[in-house]
Amino acid sequence: MGSKAKDSPAGYLRSPLTRSEIEQLRRSLLDWYHQQGRDLPWRQTQDPYAIWISEIMLQQTQVQTVIPYYQRWLKAFPTVFDLAKAEQQQVLKLWQGLGYYARARNLHRAASKIVQDWGGQFPTQYEQAIALPGIGRTTAGGILSAAFNQPQPILDGNVKRVLARLVALPLPLKRAESQLWQISEQVLAPDQARDFNQAIMDLGATVCTPKAPSCLLCPWLTLCHAHQLNLQSTLPMREAAVPLPHKQIGVAVIWNQQGQILIDRRRQEGLLGGLWEFPGGKIEPGETVPDCIAREIREELGIEIEVGDRLITLDHTYTHFKVTLNVHHCRHLQGEPQPLECDEVRWVSLSELDDFPFPKANERIIAALRQR
Ligand code: SF4
Repeated sequence: MGSKAKDSPAGYLRSPLTRSEIEQLRRSLLDWYHQQGRDLPWRQTQDPYAIWISEIMLQQTQVQTVIPYYQRWLKAFPTVFDLAKAEQQQVLKLWQGLGYYARARNLHRAASKIVQDWGGQFPTQYEQAIALPGIGRTTAGGILSAAFNQPQPILDGNVKRVLARLVALPLPLKRAESQLWQISEQVLAPDQARDFNQAIMDLGATVCTPKAPSCLLCPWLTLCHAHQLNLQSTLPMREAAVPLPHKQIGVAVIWNQQGQILIDRRRQEGLLGGLWEFPGGKIEPGETVPDCIAREIREELGIEIEVGDRLITLDHTYTHFKVTLNVHHCRHLQGEPQPLECDEVRWVSLSELDDFPFPKANERIIAALRQR
């Protein structure tokens, strides 16, 4: 590190690394990667379609969780043409359990676009790639570097943490996005972008981990500013935590006289769009759970029900809020269910529920129904 940078925290953000430091960083990281890099299924291919699928799955999900999903996906949809012509329900079903379902809907939409606009070839230009649904800057960089060895930087959560420690970033990550992109671009080995980007992700996942990084095993040990300052466990700086809002939800498992259950498909736009669920909604202040359920079902489906015994109460945490689902058995009294606030409604048997993609929290309701 240059002494100028040490004197002024802001100096880190302008020019944290000298040319010779950058050369050393590239060499040492690539050497380490060639010996210690992880053997991951998407590294055995240069097929941009397969790499794209892996990049999207990895956006918010751990590698070990992604591997079986990735393998199942490529079996079901080996090419972009197979994905483009699939039904959305099939795509969502295959995604079930990975969360952040907008990723699956966007993959499906982008596949149609690639087939229509690019004859089934994944676009090789950055501007074209980033214009596809669900592809942001780091995903575009990840795909183009891994598939075509293009010198495109990346900045996922692991990379941000590693770079913030490397330069001892004196700001929380969210307030230094553009500086971190600059550093990612600076350190990238332009002629070995594929390996370099994979290497820095591996470094973050296996050595420069969020808690207790293994600095003594790190190829960047001698150049890392956080390590020199003994700040590796306190960086990156954190924003003050804000408690998540908590919503109480009333949920109805509505039975008809044939022993079937009513489910509805959520609207495409918004959280969990296109997935099926048991109907219900937010409990208003002063409202009891049964009152809420009866009102929601009237408003959303236009039918009258009798709210019966409690089936289960469960908590679920999303990225920006928590919910408690208060689930009750209900009996259909009158009216034909209408999709007033959803895309579709259906009466199904308990065994047919497996044919529909449900959000994770609803899977626990299905399990509780099967234990009755
Ligand atoms: S020396 Fe430690 S803190 Fe610095 S990059 Fe390596 S593992 Fe991370």
